[in-house]
Amino acid sequence: MAQIAMVMNLDKCIGCHTCSVTCKQTWTNRPGTEYVYFNNVETKPGTGYPRRYEDQGQWKGGWALDRKGRLQLKAGGRLRRLLSIFYNPNLPSIDDYGDPWTYDYQTLIDAPAGTLTPSAHSISALTGRDMRVRWGSNWEDDLAGGPAGAAADPDLAGLGDRVRLAFEQVFMFYLPRICEHCLNPSCVASCPSGAMYKREEDGIVLVDQDRCRGWRFCVSGCPYKKVYFNHRTGKAEKCTLCFPRIEAGQPTICAETCVGRLRYLGLVLYDADKVLRAAATADPRDLYHAQLSVFLDPDDPDVRAAAARQGVPADWLDAARRSPAYALIARHRVALPLHPEYRTLPMVWYIPPLSPVADTVTAAGYDADDPDQVFAAIEALRVPAEYLANLFTAGDPGPVRRVLRTLAAVRTLMRAGQLGLAVPDGLAASVGATEADLADLYRLLAIAKYDERYVIPPAHAEDAGRLMAQHEQLFCAQPGGPDSFHPAAAQEFRDRDGRRHLGLSPRGQS
Ligand code: SF4
Ligand code: SF4
Repeated sequence: MAQIAMVMNLDKCIGCHTCSVTCKQTWTNRPGTEYVYFNNVETKPGTGYPRRYEDQGQWKGGWALDRKGRLQLKAGGRLRRLLSIFYNPNLPSIDDYGDPWTYDYQTLIDAPAGTLTPSAHSISALTGRDMRVRWGSNWEDDLAGGPAGAAADPDLAGLGDRVRLAFEQVFMFYLPRICEHCLNPSCVASCPSGAMYKREEDGIVLVDQDRCRGWRFCVSGCPYKKVYFNHRTGKAEKCTLCFPRIEAGQPTICAETCVGRLRYLGLVLYDADKVLRAAATADPRDLYHAQLSVFLDPDDPDVRAAAARQGVPADWLDAARRSPAYALIARHRVALPLHPEYRTLPMVWYIPPLSPVADTVTAAGYDADDPDQVFAAIEALRVPAEYLANLFTAGDPGPVRRVLRTLAAVRTLMRAGQLGLAVPDGLAASVGATEADLADLYRLLAIAKYDERYVIPPAHAEDAGRLMAQHEQLFCAQPGGPDSFHPAAAQEFRDRDGRRHLGLSPRGQS
C-alpha cells in the first residue's frame, strides 16, 4: 500500500509559527474551533499542547500489549469503553488546551480622554467574559514557561538533574506537530460510530462529519491529542493533511508556507500485512526498527510488481522512487518517529536537532575539523541524546547517536569541500555510509528545491477534473467574490466518496 508521509528537519525550525497560523486560517477559523490548532509548534523541553499530552499514564492514549502480548487500546477493551460512554475520564479539559482569549480592543477606541492610557483587558473567546490569562496553547514558547514549567515535561523522566541543569543554560528546540496519519491509528480503533477512517489510497486519516456522534473516544484514544472536539457542532475534527491540496499534487498548507523549508512530503510503500505484527513488537525500544521493516523499497522490482497488482498507479510508483520522505526515513535513516512506544506507527517523522554541537565543540576547546572530536562532543550536547531518545526511539539512545553522527559527518564533509581541506579518512564509513550518501543527504537537507521536497503524485487522472472544479468552487467562487466571505461560517465540502468535511476557508481569507 502507499502512504503519504511527512518528515520535518528540526535543525531548521525557527519557531515562527507561520505553519500554525496558515493552518488555522485555512481549516479552523470558525466558531467551535477557537482553541484548536491542527498544527502547533511546541518548545522543548516543555509540556506541550494540550498540557502533558505525552503522559499516557494519565490520558491512556494509544495502544498497549495485554498479558498475552496482543495489542489492545490503552483505554481498555470495548466493554470498558462502552461502560464509560457517558463519562470519559481521559479527556483533556479546556484548561489543558488553554482557554483562547482575545482583547477588549473597543475600550482603546471608546475610552474618554484622561490622564491614564487605556488598556485592553483579556476576554475569553469561548464565554465572552473577562478572564485572567494563566495558560495558553503556546504558553511555553521560547521558554516562557521557564524551568519550573518545563520540569513537568514527561520526556525528562529518568534524566534527573543532568538535563535540568543543561536546560537552565537556555537550550531549547522547536517541535512542530500535526496528526501523524498513523499506520495503526488508535483514534480509528476507538471510534464506536465508524466515523474515523484511514483512506486506502494514501493513508490520510479523516472524520466523516455525518457519521460522528460526538462520543470523543477518538480524542482520548489519540496519544498525540490530535483529534479535537468542536463544541458548536458536537463532532470531532482533525488535521486532514490538506487532502484536497494533496489530491491536486500540492503540499499541505503548513509545508507550503514553512519559513524554514524543513518539511518534506512523499510516498512510502509499505506491507500492510506486517503492520499489526510490527505494532505488537514486545520491547518498545525495538518499535523503531519494527516500523522500518514494514516499509518497502520502491526500487525493488518485486515490490513494484506487487504494488501494481494491488492497484497502485504507475505514476505513484515513480513518485515513491523519488520520495524525499522514503529517502530520509529508510534510505539514509536520519529521520525518526515521534513516540513509537504509543504503537500507532506514526507517519510524520523527525530529523533530531544537532545545532548546538558546533558551540559545544568550540566551548570545550575541541577542534571542529576533527570528526572524532565532533563525535565526542555529541555526547556533551546540552540536550543529551537520552532526551531525544525519549522523544523518538522509546528511550534507546543508539539510533539517535547514529543520526547525530551522520549529520555531523555531512557537515564535516561539506566543510572540508568548502575550505579545501582533506576529507578525514574513513569519515563516511564511520557512520555506515558512502561519501555519495553524505553528498545526497547534503543535497536533500540543505539545497533541495520545492519539487524535490514535495513529491506528491496527483490523484488519478479520472478525478482531476472534479478536483479542480471543487477547488475553484471552494477558493474562487464565493458568492460576491472572496471578499464577501465571512470567515466565521463553516465551509462544508464532500470528498470523492461523498463524506462530509468542514473547514477550508477560501483563498481570499487564507
Ligand atoms: Fe489518529 Fe492522527 Fe492521533 Fe494517529 S496521530 S492516532 S492518526 S489522530
Ligand atoms: Fe518551524 Fe516552519 Fe512552522 Fe516556522 S513555519 S514554526 S520554521 S515548522
